[in-house]
Amino acid sequence: MTSPVLVAGAGPVGLTMAMALKRRGVDVRVVDRAAARTDKSKALVIWPRTLELLDIQGCSRPFIDAGLQAHGARILADDGTDLLMHVRFDTARSQYRFALMIPQSETERLLEEQLAKLGVTVERRVELISFTEEADGVSALLRHPDGRDETLQASWLAACDGAHSTVRHALALPFTGDTMPSDWVLADLQIDGELPRDEITICWTPDGVMVFFPIDATRLRVIADVGLAAADEAPAPTLREIQALIDHRGPKGLHAHDPFWISRFRINERKVKDYRHGRVFLCGDAAHVHSPAGGQGMNTGMQDAFNLAWKLAMVWHGAAGEALLESYSPERSAIGDQVLRAAGNMTKVALMRNPVLTELRSLAVGALGHLPALRQRFVDQLAEVDLHYHDSPLTESPRGAARHPAGGERAPDLLLSPAPTETPRLYDVLATGRFAVLSVSAPLMDLPQALRPIAAAVATEASAEYVGGHVYLVRPDGYVALSTGAADTGPILATLERIAQG
Ligand SMILES: Cc1cc2nc3c(=O)[nH]c(=O)nc-3n(C[C@H](O)[C@H](O)[C@H](O)COP(=O)(O)OP(=O)(O)OC[C@H]3O[C@@H](n4cnc5c(N)ncnc54)[C@H](O)[C@@H]3O)c2cc1C
Repeated sequence: MTSPVLVAGAGPVGLTMAMALKRRGVDVRVVDRAAARTDKSKALVIWPRTLELLDIQGCSRPFIDAGLQAHGARILADDGTDLLMHVRFDTARSQYRFALMIPQSETERLLEEQLAKLGVTVERRVELISFTEEADGVSALLRHPDGRDETLQASWLAACDGAHSTVRHALALPFTGDTMPSDWVLADLQIDGELPRDEITICWTPDGVMVFFPIDATRLRVIADVGLAAADEAPAPTLREIQALIDHRGPKGLHAHDPFWISRFRINERKVKDYRHGRVFLCGDAAHVHSPAGGQGMNTGMQDAFNLAWKLAMVWHGAAGEALLESYSPERSAIGDQVLRAAGNMTKVALMRNPVLTELRSLAVGALGHLPALRQRFVDQLAEVDLHYHDSPLTESPRGAARHPAGGERAPDLLLSPAPTETPRLYDVLATGRFAVLSVSAPLMDLPQALRPIAAAVATEASAEYVGGHVYLVRPDGYVALSTGAADTGPILATLERIAQG
């Protein structure tokens, strides 16, 4: 029998990993050295692409029910009186046309509930102390709350153990990057006054930036940069100091009260180069940390988990060769670089102080805000629907491939036709953990018996999203691997055979 996969860390990324693996029938152990999951709101936004991936797991609904839908973002200047840019998320190219505002504590609670439904309990106060890689597995030393040590033989180790990762340190991997030269304050509280409760409000001032995020019907988060504190561990600001900042930088007439979390943080932008070391995979904050601008840290980490889980599951079951796992690091490391760059740029623009540059910034953003194509790009970037794996070893562009979605790009969900009873939508087929071989206004493909454990043939009619007369190979995480003309599906069969044989 194959030994379990060890998931080290039960933050949002470890929980996502354990859930996605277990749903695919993989034995998992998930351990966390903390006694309880976080009670902090930390990451507040789940973006549309992450919701789509939760949808493939069959569980987006509980998250949507527990969160608040934010429908747009606005950038204000001049003490909140000058509207520089206003974008609405309802143009996002997704079935989810909003940013889901939900505290990280809630996200973790819901993920843990999903995991419990699958029969897995997080082993709390269990610490991964050390590990050794062996020919066919990983030998991990776990310390239990009563001081007992256990040696676990795991098939693979998913290191989801956060920014100070034990695993990354043990592997002596450089965490390359910088610490940004500014402190930030964060306050989750109630605010009375005129402020949109279903939009994100960004205020640019000559003294710094202030951002308001709605949390729920009554509460908001405010963050602001405050320059470098003299001491590394400066105390969290008081409510009075937060109010003074709001008076100075925010729209007028706001009154803050009833804080439930006030904190101070510094932004690190760091990343490992390779996300895979033999039988060990780094995921989430263990692999990359960045500015909260764009709110994409946790989303990127959860998407690391979705990317790896289906590949590990196929390999664990012996349905695919280990070569499939070689795509994880190049795919996710490239996304990590992209997110790091975008979040860093957004933060640097927000932190501008030079009066000439800030004037230019306002002019540029004001002008860009009037160009629908650029506004759409901004929304797609935030929604993470523009992320792609163009340069992945799993992506191909054979002759006759469809123009869109191209190899490596997101595969939108759709109704199948004829619609199988159990799996009426494309994402229902992906939920079975297999590739979908999607014929669009073309005959259903007859897959060889040997490929059926990893792929299912389905069909649909041509639409704005898929080009008729083509067959698409859609990965279990909702990206197109390749497409071909309906008359020459040889490359699709060849790719599936290569994956199955490794
Ligand atoms: C103040 C603040 C605000 C933030 N705002 C945002 C935001 O708006 N948007 C966003 O996307 N992100 C935000 N983030 C970042 C977000 O919280 C992280 O990206 C996210 O928590 C990463 O999840 P993770 O599962 O990778 O790591 P973590 O959440 O850090 O979880 C790691 C887990 O591993 C456990 N662990 C560590 N070592 C071991 C070991 N040796 N053995 C067993 N268990 C171990 C830890 O106890 C922990 O539970 C914010 C973070 C902070 C602090």
